Amino acid sequence: MKKPLINGLHHITAMASDAQQNLDFYVGLLGLRLVKKTINFDAPDVYHLYYGDETGAAGSIMTFFPFGVSPFRGRHGNGQAATTSFSIPSTALDYWIKRFEQYNILYKPAQIRFNESVIYFEDPDGLGLELIANDVDTRIPYTYGHIPAEHAIRGFWGSELWETSYERTESLLNGHLGYEFVGEAGVRRRYAPLGQAEPGKFIDILWDSTKRYGQGGIGTVHHIAFDTPSDDSQQEVQELLLSKGYAPTPVLDRQYFHSIYFREPGGVLFEIATTPPGFVFDESVAELGTGLKLPLWQEKHRPEIEAHLAPISLEATLAKYEA
Ligand code: ZN
Repeated sequence: MKKPLINGLHHITAMASDAQQNLDFYVGLLGLRLVKKTINFDAPDVYHLYYGDETGAAGSIMTFFPFGVSPFRGRHGNGQAATTSFSIPSTALDYWIKRFEQYNILYKPAQIRFNESVIYFEDPDGLGLELIANDVDTRIPYTYGHIPAEHAIRGFWGSELWETSYERTESLLNGHLGYEFVGEAGVRRRYAPLGQAEPGKFIDILWDSTKRYGQGGIGTVHHIAFDTPSDDSQQEVQELLLSKGYAPTPVLDRQYFHSIYFREPGGVLFEIATTPPGFVFDESVAELGTGLKLPLWQEKHRPEIEAHLAPISLEATLAKYEA
């Protein structure tokens, strides 16, 4: 059988305000590993922070551009990957509810969706997040020690797209990206890669023609990236998209993966990112996230770049959220 061109999500990238606050929330509160501290390649005075599991495996990587105090706040609405969901064991639900109460995180009481309990909450910038409590995720979580491994986040569950209608996005997912329809509840339609209805791979479309369009900015997702196994499979996807009238970009070197981008019919920016080389490209697994890593072409500007970035401290985060 031919290998799939897409194996689910690779990463999800969103916009934030304060970098230390972002680190506190995703590492301190949620317990994700800081996998890479680098800069926005197009705006070197802004960090690019990557969070994930131990190695930053595809399907676990949440990334942020923290712009600092910024005038451009986003607004949730159609044309966005509005809600990002993380997978936890069903036995961890009470742990997380207690944790949210301990740290004064507002959340919606658990509701049942398909077979899972779901808790909605938001990060300090208003980004829509969910915990999906399930019994099917076998991935090994990372822990700094302040969150017991048995309760820790396993990686993404999926991404929820808000659209005015589902048909055109569905035909892109199913027709060209190797996804299939796997379930429906009201205006929610769920998709997964063919034969791979697993955590880390789900795309839900929530369709509502009456909802207004969102506005990109702080507290919204910038794009979602799908995982493709190699440069060859990426080229296949790129050629397929071109032949179907989409306008993917040329391949861009993102240091830890190679990427193409295109706008899906509902308005969400999609990226196709290669699994290799991965985050161990410039740090060992043990060292991941500890140094400020710059792309080679920016190394000569390191002193100026470091001078323009507000310092952030992982140690300070972990001290605030001790076990
Ligand atoms: Zn990306």
